[in-house]
Amino acid sequence: MRPGRDLGLRGAAAAAADTILSAASVSKAFAALPVLKNIDLDIRRGEFVALVGPSGSGKSTLLRIIGGFETADRGRILIDGVDVTGETPARRPTGMVFQRLALFPHMSMRANIGYPLKLKGLPPPAVAARVGELMALMHLPEHYAGRLPRQLSGGEQQRVALARALALSPSILLLDEPLSALDAKLKKNLQAEIRDLHRKVGVTFLHVTHDLEEAMVLADRICVMRDGEILQYATPGDIYYRPANAFVASFIGEPNLIPVVAIERNDRGFACRLRWGGQASISLDPGQFATGLIVDGALAKPACLMLRPEHVCLSSRAGGEGSLMARVAEIFMKGATTQFRATTASGLTVSFEVQGARSDLARIGEVVPLEWDARAAFVTAVEPS
Ligand code: ADP
Ligand code: MG
Repeated sequence: MRPGRDLGLRGAAAAAADTILSAASVSKAFAALPVLKNIDLDIRRGEFVALVGPSGSGKSTLLRIIGGFETADRGRILIDGVDVTGETPARRPTGMVFQRLALFPHMSMRANIGYPLKLKGLPPPAVAARVGELMALMHLPEHYAGRLPRQLSGGEQQRVALARALALSPSILLLDEPLSALDAKLKKNLQAEIRDLHRKVGVTFLHVTHDLEEAMVLADRICVMRDGEILQYATPGDIYYRPANAFVASFIGEPNLIPVVAIERNDRGFACRLRWGGQASISLDPGQFATGLIVDGALAKPACLMLRPEHVCLSSRAGGEGSLMARVAEIFMKGATTQFRATTASGLTVSFEVQGARSDLARIGEVVPLEWDARAAFVTAVEPS
């Protein structure tokens, strides 16, 4: 049932017993164009990891190399301590749900789900029993078992693909944008279902998406990729509040990114001088700076201060430390929140968001004082290192 397990003795790498997957120094080029550049990625047993990045960043290629559908030019794949680099997909303890649905169009739901079991040589009664289990797990009604893929909705087809990928009880389930073709409502439902599924089956999930919001909802850890490189691999909280650079920060929401001119030590940690106009200094703890940004008490590379729109608000007082005047340029009613965009005297746009339908708070063209929660600020690199 678990093909990877008989591949040999568990290697020394399995000493890190809770590491189920290691991709080590994986590189890949297509026609001399590098698509993966020396990727290192470790995933813990039972973890839900989301791989996110813009289209073309190499997510599918990395997933296919892990699943054995593509070979790396360099590097190794270890699953449960076993080197599977040269193995075929069938000999790896992985299940895969492809970006483009790969259900057999001429086969019923039952036959699609049972296909890998049949291929393994399981007797028909055992196949039927396991297919029944998987259909129940995926909330697929029994009387649909005879339907062909085209007689199923998009969401049902995805559930069949998930059931088939889980048929052989893989150690790792690889999901390549399984929800990208679905409409918004169905997507939300299936996100919840995938999260439940992960809890229920206890299998390690590696889920590719270009949607960081989806990754935040689903994952224990998020790996952000761009141009074949990993920019940050961290918890959703750290990705959101402590992004490694401006690209990661801007991948979700609409953060304010204010250039930092210089820093100076003070009794709290550091005072940041901002290119923001008006009163433009902010005192921060040393922990509010991205790793490696400060060397010998000075900025080692171009940096910006990130303030999420929900941490900026209209102030009751004008002027003074920690406040700024700006002219309201746009107001967006977003339902649960209202978003404002305002422009400072120095031409910088500040985005802020308040709870509720609050377009009454300011008029377009009005100059308003803004303040922010300095504890929620984070200084990060402008460019990935
Ligand atoms: P993502 O899944 O992040 O959108 P991919 O891994 O699919 O990215 O692709 C990364 C890059 O590699 C893209 O520029 C893509 O065009 C290229 N690529 C992927 N597969 C092939 C292939 N089989 N032959 C040539 N180029 C490929
Ligand atoms: Mg892809």
